[in-house]
Amino acid sequence: MKTITSVSTVSAECISARKSGKTIGFVPTMGFLHEGHLSLIRLARQKADVVVVSIFVNPTQFGPGEDFDKYPRDMDRDAAMCSSAGVDILFCPDASDMYTQGHSVFVDEEMVSESLCGLLRPGHFKGVLTVVAKLFHLVQPDFAVFGQKDLQQCRLVQKMVRELDFQVRIEVAPIVREDDGLAMSSRNVYLSSAERCAAVCVPGSLALAGDMLESGVDDVDEIRRRMRELIGRTQVASIDYIEFLDYQTWKPVKMVRGQCAIVMAVRIGKVRLLDNIMIGGDAGQRVFLPRSLPR
Ligand code: AMP
Repeated sequence: MKTITSVSTVSAECISARKSGKTIGFVPTMGFLHEGHLSLIRLARQKADVVVVSIFVNPTQFGPGEDFDKYPRDMDRDAAMCSSAGVDILFCPDASDMYTQGHSVFVDEEMVSESLCGLLRPGHFKGVLTVVAKLFHLVQPDFAVFGQKDLQQCRLVQKMVRELDFQVRIEVAPIVREDDGLAMSSRNVYLSSAERCAAVCVPGSLALAGDMLESGVDDVDEIRRRMRELIGRTQVASIDYIEFLDYQTWKPVKMVRGQCAIVMAVRIGKVRLLDNIMIGGDAGQRVFLPRSLPR
């Protein structure tokens, strides 16, 4: 595995790989890797000749007062995990090399990014799309893998690729969960042990929604009311949003028909947890959570 910090070197390496006819699979991350990231890397490993992983805690996607400084980092451990997962190029640039001084050009989206996490974190998705666009230009991958865990991000990257004519295919990989159903996240380390126990109400509420849908209930208000009730039993939990959306249009639905997503953000103490399930349509990705979850 080559570890590269320089923007120009990674670009030269990737151009040379492409010239020799190799396909490139790319997995962008912010590091502090876990099984969720590794599942993306494994998917890329199966399909590409060259696997590139980036680790970059991108300052432009953090707002003032957010956790940029204390975002968990462990480059040595991450590098060892990438190496044993068969990564060919690990790209971990400095912010000063990624963003030239006085940079003032950004990629912004004006519809999907204005809802949900975009409302809670103004400017967040502008930072995300800008860095993803820059990384795509540097790596020029045939495909890039993103996690369904960050569903709004997936939708935005798909829109950016289509609407700005990027020549890259976007693959969306399923959410990897802990044994009790909690979606893995680098930020889970912020949870105290009591909060970690409480956090199971998030996947638990999605499991409840899954059960209700299975039993034929498709009224969004009714399902959301029961999800809120379940989460409300957990003292430290506070709901930022639970939305039922048409995945293509990203508009709220009243009945669960066609390809929908239930997306949610819940604060457990100071930690915001994101989770979602996809339902119906071609998605075929409905998540069936462990039966042992609280309902
Ligand atoms: P991050 O390092 O948090 O920016 O995440 C990098 C990539 O890993 C993103 O595409 C995430 O959606 C994905 N990811 C994070 N957590 C998970 C998970 N539990 N399962 C699958 N993918 C994940």
